[in-house]
Amino acid sequence: MKQTATKFKIPNILMFGAPGVGKGTYGGMLVKDINYKSIATGDAIRSFLKKDDLTPELQEIQAICRRGDLISDDKIMQIVNSSLSSLKHFEGVIFDGFPRNVAQARLFSDIIDIRSSYVVNLELDESVLIEKLGGRRVCKECGEGYNFCNIDRNGYKMSPLLPKNGKTCDCCGGELIQREDDNEQVIASRLELYNKETQPVLEIFKSMEIPILNFEPKNGKKDYRKLLERIQTDFISGF
Ligand code: ADP
Repeated sequence: MKQTATKFKIPNILMFGAPGVGKGTYGGMLVKDINYKSIATGDAIRSFLKKDDLTPELQEIQAICRRGDLISDDKIMQIVNSSLSSLKHFEGVIFDGFPRNVAQARLFSDIIDIRSSYVVNLELDESVLIEKLGGRRVCKECGEGYNFCNIDRNGYKMSPLLPKNGKTCDCCGGELIQREDDNEQVIASRLELYNKETQPVLEIFKSMEIPILNFEPKNGKKDYRKLLERIQTDFISGF
């Protein structure tokens, strides 16, 4: 049986958009507010890489992440399948960072009723993405995200997202670090890869007539309520 929230016809939500656009931030907030489960392939991969003794396979995956390239579709489908198998069939899922290329979208539609999904396509100017990725810090322990940049130009007004004491994670007190793939060179290649490999997935969604909400969070986290209201309105109206 294809895994989806078929019992109550709850659409799965696919968070879509370039690196740094806020898929993880908004997806994390939505999960709590609408009581969905989250499957974030990037987070899953980082949790595997936290181990001290990495197997040769994990060392290879680590090298791929450091370069900003994509992990093999086989490995990603393994992660998605095993995450799905731990869910109950009526639970709605927010996918973050998946599907990330056309092949993954096709493989996904083999296991999921992809047509009953809802896509949140987040968009920001590339120069804003680059600045945000450069200013991003994450908690080494729990992965909570922060941002040290202050953007105020061309209609964008994004305040820094700082920890309360300016140094350590609000949630667990962990150390804040810069992700290995958030350096200038790797950011440039991740954005290039997004344009080449991931952006075309939107065309697949369109051809399948999956509803797409295009949303530009020009005020960062402050736009979250607006996003939530748009999603709730769409869900209530049945799109
Ligand atoms: P971001 O969206 O900020 O680039 P993610 O946390 O989603 O970050 O992903 C981090 C890295 O994990 C990616 O650069 C890639 O190497 C790997 N990754 C995550 N999701 C996928 C996926 N669906 N397919 C292939 N690789 C992935």
